[in-house]
Amino acid sequence: MVVEAGLITAVEAGAPAPVGAEVVDASGRAMLPGFIDAHSHDDAALFRPGGLDPKTGQGVTTTVLGNCGLGVAPSSPGLAESATPVLGPFPDRHWPTFGDYLAEIAAEARAVNTVALVPHAPLRAAALGFERRPATAAEVDAIAGTAASALDAGAAGISLGLMYAPGDEATRDELLALATAAARHDRLLVAHIRNEADHLRASIDEMADLARATGARLHISHLKVTGPANAGGMPAIIDHLDALRDEGIDVTADVYPYDAGSTTVASLFPPDAQGALVALLSDPTTRRPLLARLDHPWPATALENQWAAVGPGRILLAGFPATMAEYEGLSVAAIAASRAQDPLDALADLVVGAAGQLTVVVFHTDPDGVRQALAWPHTLVGSDGLPREAGFVHPRLYGTFPRALTLGVLPFDAALARMTSATADRFGLARRGRIEVGAAADLQLVDLGAYADRATYDDPRRSPAGLAGVWVGGVRVGAASAGQFLRPAPAAPAGPNKSG
Ligand SMILES: [Zn+2]
Repeated sequence: MVVEAGLITAVEAGAPAPVGAEVVDASGRAMLPGFIDAHSHDDAALFRPGGLDPKTGQGVTTTVLGNCGLGVAPSSPGLAESATPVLGPFPDRHWPTFGDYLAEIAAEARAVNTVALVPHAPLRAAALGFERRPATAAEVDAIAGTAASALDAGAAGISLGLMYAPGDEATRDELLALATAAARHDRLLVAHIRNEADHLRASIDEMADLARATGARLHISHLKVTGPANAGGMPAIIDHLDALRDEGIDVTADVYPYDAGSTTVASLFPPDAQGALVALLSDPTTRRPLLARLDHPWPATALENQWAAVGPGRILLAGFPATMAEYEGLSVAAIAASRAQDPLDALADLVVGAAGQLTVVVFHTDPDGVRQALAWPHTLVGSDGLPREAGFVHPRLYGTFPRALTLGVLPFDAALARMTSATADRFGLARRGRIEVGAAADLQLVDLGAYADRATYDDPRRSPAGLAGVWVGGVRVGAASAGQFLRPAPAAPAGPNKSG
């Protein structure tokens, strides 16, 4: 293989190298396309030293930002507080529009290439703050208008986070306006759906209805079935997704291969409490009634009650300030026992003590469902990693791709395609995710005999064994940064591909 000026110019073994080129001995190893992380939360990590190390350490060369409706732009009051548990600390920047954020990303080379979805929550926050109410017609127009501007500025789609405040407040009118913007730009509508537990199918149908009404291409984030009572439910969901595709709805999904999820601690609480969680838990008159609501499932339209589904022994807490570091990565049950407290009281005290800025790792996912979702031909791999440079993290941040590649659900080449070429095609990235003449030289050199995922819940910050080198645009990671901001191709992926 020969690489010149960031592009693959020959693929056959023994092709003559240009004079003065660096020669990499790949004997006994495999040169693979770099992974494309279809679902990242690297929006703020891009601006933190080492923030992308977990990605390059597992061979990721392109990361898709802006998932789950969460992001850092446009800037508005309260945005950082609401999204820090997922995105990590925000950079000290002010971006009046999402396009301003994209321009800053594009202005300098990053450790990996970036693709961006425009997230719903910051657009809604910019229009009406974090108020718990439906948007007015004028506000809906403003939200959809800023989404369309972001698509014009190079976003690859619009993302929704219907499980989180304030995105969960969106009515069908607001969602229809966003789906219409996505459809008009021929960009993806990507959704963290409302409920992945008892109301998984209805939550998928909510999105399918938007796609049916507007023609938007749909992508379901981190497809899984959660809650012990719903184990075994994935085959019926896959059948339903196939039926939607047969009907003409263009729907795909991404998956991370683990039996636990990870998100904000606020997601343990009912949506109407998420915005004022610390205040509600600090006031003795509101604390007890709120905690009591965690003991019982919530009405059909609400968020899933993860606490009631799995209990305090299967919920780990992370993201503590230094003064509370002893609790990092422990279960609520273990922390409560160490403090001789009732688990709900312990949870409330910790949330208040950490000013609401905690992350949870919840063991609620049916592992068979994950394998079945990965086997569906229209599933991509996305880490959903929550980047933090210190403390406990879900191992998916470091191990998603080697784990998915070696899981044995799919043949090696098929699994690899779900992390490279198929992802590039879905997000409209021309000449990415494949090894062919004319493609970008986003590459990883792998010693397949030694290749293994090493990130575990006990020791999550471990990159895979057997990764011998990673190149972004032909530049070796560690030597320099060469990651570019990638705009989706203007036409359908079939057009501009011209390979030798
Ligand atoms: Zn999500």
